[in-house]
Amino acid sequence: MSLTGKYDPDNIFAKILRGELPCVKVYEDDIVLAFMDIFPQAPGHVLVVPREAARNALEMSDDALAAAMPRVKRIGNAVKAALAPDGIMIAQLNGAPAGQTVFHVHFHIIPRSDGAQLGLHAGGKADMDELTAQAKTIASFLD
Ligand code: 5GP
Repeated sequence: MSLTGKYDPDNIFAKILRGELPCVKVYEDDIVLAFMDIFPQAPGHVLVVPREAARNALEMSDDALAAAMPRVKRIGNAVKAALAPDGIMIAQLNGAPAGQTVFHVHFHIIPRSDGAQLGLHAGGKADMDELTAQAKTIASFLD
């Protein structure tokens, strides 16, 4: 899907936001829902999904984007405190040619380790018990 087109209200993250599909939740408020990526590129890969119905960041309202970014920072700092990675990548992809696969805007928070290659984008499925344990640890730094 290119950068033109319409928002599909039945995309997978819209369904997760509406509670129609499950997720391993890290955090939620009236602005964002954050949950573990089930095909993580590194252990502790979190997705921060603004509630606003927009396909990508370029289509978000200024207010929703401005409200989302401090949440991305706060959850990024919780990932840092919980997992003590060597680095943290924050990524956001706009349009299929840029690598976007789910067309509801979201921010990736991906812990990085010295010398470790980044895993495949949307690669292997994670162990759900591990995801749940990671989410619990990260969430404990958001209290
Ligand atoms: P994008 O490619 O659009 O930037 O990122 C979409 C992300 O969503 C990918 O990293 C992929 O692993 C993740 N993903 C795809 N389907 C699901 C799902 O059903 N649940 C969760 N938690 N993550 C998903």
